[in-house]
Amino acid sequence: MSHFNFLQTSIEFLKGVGPARAEILKKELGIYNYSDLLTHYPFRYIDKTKFNTINEIRDDASWVQIKGIIQWVGELGEKHGKRFIAKLVDETGEIELVWFKGVNWVKDKIHVGTEYTIFGKPSLFNNKFNFVHPEIEVSSEDVVVQTVKFYPFYSSTEKAKAKGLDSKGISRLTFTLLNLCAGNIPENLPQPLRVEHHLIDRESAISQIHFPDNFEKLSKAVLRLKFEELFFIQIQLFKSKYIRIRKNKGFIFSKVGEYFNLFYSKFLPFELTGAQKKVIKEIRADMGSGKQMNRLLQGDVGSGKTLVALMCMLIAMDNNFQVCLMAPTEILAQQHLKTLTRFLNEMGIRIDLLTGTVKGKKRKILLEALQNGEIDILIGTHALIEDSVQFKNLGLVVIDEQHRFGVAQRAKMWNKNEVFPHVLVMTATPIPRTLAMTVYGDLDISIIDELPPGRKAIKTLHYFDNARLKVLGFIRSQIKLGRQVYVVYPLIEESEKLDLLHLNDGYESLSRDFPLPEFAISMVHGRLSAEVKDFEMQRFVRNETQIMVATTVIEVGVDIPNASIMIVENAERFGLSQLHQLRGRVGRGSEQSYCILMTSYKLTEEGKKRIETLVRTNNGFEVAEVDLQLRGPGDMAGLMQSGMINLKIANLVKDEQIIKLARDSASQIIENDPELENFENKPLLWHLQEIEKTSGNWSSIS
Ligand code: ADP
Ligand code: MG
Repeated sequence: MSHFNFLQTSIEFLKGVGPARAEILKKELGIYNYSDLLTHYPFRYIDKTKFNTINEIRDDASWVQIKGIIQWVGELGEKHGKRFIAKLVDETGEIELVWFKGVNWVKDKIHVGTEYTIFGKPSLFNNKFNFVHPEIEVSSEDVVVQTVKFYPFYSSTEKAKAKGLDSKGISRLTFTLLNLCAGNIPENLPQPLRVEHHLIDRESAISQIHFPDNFEKLSKAVLRLKFEELFFIQIQLFKSKYIRIRKNKGFIFSKVGEYFNLFYSKFLPFELTGAQKKVIKEIRADMGSGKQMNRLLQGDVGSGKTLVALMCMLIAMDNNFQVCLMAPTEILAQQHLKTLTRFLNEMGIRIDLLTGTVKGKKRKILLEALQNGEIDILIGTHALIEDSVQFKNLGLVVIDEQHRFGVAQRAKMWNKNEVFPHVLVMTATPIPRTLAMTVYGDLDISIIDELPPGRKAIKTLHYFDNARLKVLGFIRSQIKLGRQVYVVYPLIEESEKLDLLHLNDGYESLSRDFPLPEFAISMVHGRLSAEVKDFEMQRFVRNETQIMVATTVIEVGVDIPNASIMIVENAERFGLSQLHQLRGRVGRGSEQSYCILMTSYKLTEEGKKRIETLVRTNNGFEVAEVDLQLRGPGDMAGLMQSGMINLKIANLVKDEQIIKLARDSASQIIENDPELENFENKPLLWHLQEIEKTSGNWSSIS
């Protein structure tokens, strides 16, 4: 396909680029070839048909375009303070244009008595508006400026700008390229699909998104390109799902046997909730279907996912398979070990733990037992992924708190067998629907939407730091009632030293407020050795200490029902879902639980919104939606960071409708023509092949 190759032409060969600028484009903007430049979309436009007058400038919020005559120019200041000033006048007033950089270049360009058009965002200086480094257009010489009606603005970087690749520089290159490409941008969507959804053709869309004729055409271009972007993600997801199901025969767990039934009738300490029953049924059906399960189990903190996982493990064992449970931290792995051991105590099941700290002879013996099939359930951390960890017949992999694991790590678990084991990914961070549909599109989803009965809703309160005495009094009264308290401090790598200092200060000051022998305090943070951590945790678990001072190492999974108060210090420094996770550490017993968010007075708008949201709702899905809105999908799944999904135009918050449309269309197409052999689907296949060639196939995520 000749035009495909054409769009893959190295950017270096575009007129006006050359080797030096090509380097900058690659390094700074990730633009390697023609196609990359064409998909470096503008983030904003100025309607060039609209002009403003100088007296219309009232604020510094919006961009304006003004036509005027330069009346005066001059250089002021020395050395670093040196600047070039020009005075622009129109019939309504005058305004200063200021340049601190590139003075020689501007000086050459601007002549007194000549008419110019400037674009810019005014700034307020000494009570007067001026323009700092406005875009200035010398009417006669710029082909882009002459031709286009809507002026595009492109993001750039300081380094790129220094090489003339500012927004304007980029627009010139794009303009050149679009002329070159005319007739060479192939359609990649099937014709019937375009007709059905009123999508304009690809070439027009790309051309209009850069240099739109009018707003109507622009919005059609945007729709078409958003759809295209989301659609191809979905096509990849459905295709890989199709291949997975077709190619990977899954183990068939045909029976529910002794283990499951014995546990259910004898050892299950409580009634399952309706939601737990429902998801166990879904999972059981999936594991018995003959295809490999790849399922996400979502349930808010405390909804009882562990128990669900356990019962699924029993089914695997009833079918003579081994299972493993992977947790993100050592503490959590140990806790799982204890929980499962407690539940399965009298059932003659061998459970073992493998973490990084299991070494030497102990490790060797364990690995042998694993390979011989003597171990039924292996619990562990990342250590499970290592190649040396080989099972006899691994049938089910349960991954807890999935957002902590990278995709690659999960995928690795698959390769422990010739036949892929079933995979159950549990997450307590509810994933907003749009994200789930996009990032986890090929996972089936089970949702536990109900908490075990008898739980009182956690009360969340916000206090400023000056209410500390009151909070301390409250803690005291709760401890007197027999409760236990977490006090969590932020600790982030960038400010680790200072954060540890605050943690230690906090610990010391609490030790003064809650002195021995009446009170005792534990402290846990990531810098402590595993033994010390465990010792401190255990003291708290056994209620020998009433207060647990900690960092977010206790964020996930820890389950101590008697701990009913969570104090979060510097709550403004935590992310929303992190706070929700922390809050989930309490509310596990039958007592009324509290989550108290302490903040300073200085709160950003976003910080305020986070705190307000938590105070308002306990619903994890609602929290996740707000989180997505505030942060964008950035770190929500750890996927975006790894470049797995790099959306150029679509927006997971705003484009829910288009996502649905794209998803439905893709699903339908793969259902009817899974190999994309139909004539009308050919463009689609070609484009997919192109994507896979250039970016690798990221859709094979588990
Ligand atoms: P999470 O979904 O956060 O992993 P857990 O599995 O840790 O939740 O369960 C939280 C607590 O609720 C545990 O103490 C667990 O034993 C208990 N639990 C789980 N299911 C039920 C149930 N059906 N009825 C009562 N308690 C339950
Ligand atoms: Mg859990």
